[in-house]
Amino acid sequence: MLDPVWQTVRDGICFLLQGKSDMRLFEGTPWDRPVICEKCGALEAECKCPAELPPKQLVPPGKQTAKLSVERRKKGKVVTVIRGLSDEANDLPGLLVKLKNACGAGGAHAPNELEIQGNHVERLKTFLSDLGYKVSGG
Ligand SMILES: [Zn+2]
Repeated sequence: MLDPVWQTVRDGICFLLQGKSDMRLFEGTPWDRPVICEKCGALEAECKCPAELPPKQLVPPGKQTAKLSVERRKKGKVVTVIRGLSDEANDLPGLLVKLKNACGAGGAHAPNELEIQGNHVERLKTFLSDLGYKVSGG
């Protein structure tokens, strides 16, 4: 894709830049990209590191509805279950921490589901809608 002369120049410069991967030599040009892998130090073209997973595409809370329900588990234990928020679209572990703190209760994270010990529907409704989520159920 690059003219062979440019390729040679670029390889030469890349060699000189080894260990200075934070330099952006080609800033503002079509070659503005890291030339040396930060993990293995190889030129990008020779790097064999596995590609990183793209960051999760989180969905804005206003486009999601949290469905709350109170359920009774074994031994009469009551839990408030939050469904409708997927792991894909949310940082559920992070959200669980906030909800546990808000309720002063324990909780658990299951796939696409959060569970808070005890009946905290009203508190969770308020908390989740303050975060911007639409809320239903309870
Ligand atoms: Zn690499």
